[in-house]
Amino acid sequence: VPGSTDYCRRNGLLTLSLLAVMSGCVVGFTLRTMFSLFPQAKIYFSFPGELLMRMLKMLILPLITSSLMSGLSAMDTKASGRLGLLTITYYLWTTFIAVIVGIILVLIIHPGTGTEKEGHKASGGPVMTSADALLDLIRNMIPSNLIEATFQQYKTELVPNFKNSEKSSQANFVYIMPDYENPKMGHPVFLELTPPPEIHYKIVPGKSNGMNVLGIVIFSATMGLLLGRMGSRGLPLVNVCLCVNECVMKIINAAMWYFPFGIVFLVAGKILDMHDPAVLAEKLGMYFMTVLAGLFVHGVILLPLFFFLFTGKNPFSYIRGLLQALVIALATSSSSATLPITMKCLLENCHVDRKIARFVLPVGATINMDGTALYEAVAAIFIAQVNEYELDFGQLVTISITATAASIGAAGIPQAGLVTMVIVLTSVGLPPDDISLIVAIDWILDRFRTMINVLGDALAAGIMAHLCKKDFQKNIPSSNNSERVR
Ligand code: ASP
Repeated sequence: VPGSTDYCRRNGLLTLSLLAVMSGCVVGFTLRTMFSLFPQAKIYFSFPGELLMRMLKMLILPLITSSLMSGLSAMDTKASGRLGLLTITYYLWTTFIAVIVGIILVLIIHPGTGTEKEGHKASGGPVMTSADALLDLIRNMIPSNLIEATFQQYKTELVPNFKNSEKSSQANFVYIMPDYENPKMGHPVFLELTPPPEIHYKIVPGKSNGMNVLGIVIFSATMGLLLGRMGSRGLPLVNVCLCVNECVMKIINAAMWYFPFGIVFLVAGKILDMHDPAVLAEKLGMYFMTVLAGLFVHGVILLPLFFFLFTGKNPFSYIRGLLQALVIALATSSSSATLPITMKCLLENCHVDRKIARFVLPVGATINMDGTALYEAVAAIFIAQVNEYELDFGQLVTISITATAASIGAAGIPQAGLVTMVIVLTSVGLPPDDISLIVAIDWILDRFRTMINVLGDALAAGIMAHLCKKDFQKNIPSSNNSERVR
């Protein structure tokens, strides 16, 4: 409500964040043109921004585990099995399609590629095959040790084989892993060792720094589904997850006040480190347009098409009833905050069955974020393109899976997608700190992707109401399990 404390707080924060981005740009460009700072001075200067990144990273593990376990356990699949199964399948399917739309667009448009340089691998050919990346992907899906999975993931590497002294014609490249904990270290690089040394290199499955998020997501999702089936016996653990989730949200809410300060130094620090800001500004504009085009294709063409195919009804007259919710989504950047309005629109304007809306909407606000998933895939590939890091097919598959998973793990709050973005980046070995490349325009993209997230949930409720009409005329327990999540 305009005038209320909450409204002023949210808008105040938005204004501050906007000012922070602008100040960061001004400070960064001014320092860049007027002084030539020593590397050590840049590290000290970027420290508040580094703290912001550390805060975001700190929240990943509790955020993923608690959101997935509490979100999925909220689905009482015994009581409403068909609805639960259809809803989950539909959510996963549309999210995955959104990711594919994003990947296709970003690969066609290539927003992160300048004309000035070639890729690192262009001169040397691929070091590892897609099969190696695919095996890593499967290894990461099944972590042999969960504790280890919180700080290490599998990453096949090229290592020297000192036992074999035969000359190798292909082995003239070595891959140096970046050290994410050390801001002085740069991005992954390939060093050319010419002439090829008298050492044979071999490809071996290894481990790299960075959380195995995929393994954690799969484990948490399985636990969440099983907890939901255990009924009251699972409640203690579900409640622990809900409390953790609530605390994480509170930490994020509090940390949001630090964001404007951190953003100034994060943006300025990045500008100080950038090679060619002019090229990047142009690339950022293209990235912005790519995300918007993807959201448009998904929200205005594909989702309404699915609605029409499943229900045979006019999707646009249904969407007309949702406009109020879409405007609130645009204003708040939060699908959770929009939930009461979405519910009101669905019940009053679209006349969706109350029991179905009460199940499908809260679950959707927790796990179904098509806009976020699309944006995460585009952003990760954009960051790879800016870094001239060529992604192979296996890594694109990894991005499509982790972007889907990261959107499921993202909370329905402003810029939660920026937090879970780290998941997608680390899964393919990209530097998570490069989130700062896109942070400048994230606040506005967040508004548009939140609209698509809300639209996806509301259209799903209409489809489920149509598909499960008969089941719900008979009976459905008035399980308010899903409301525990809120
Ligand atoms: N703000 C989004 C939402 O609430 C999440 C995100 O993509 O950051 O749906």
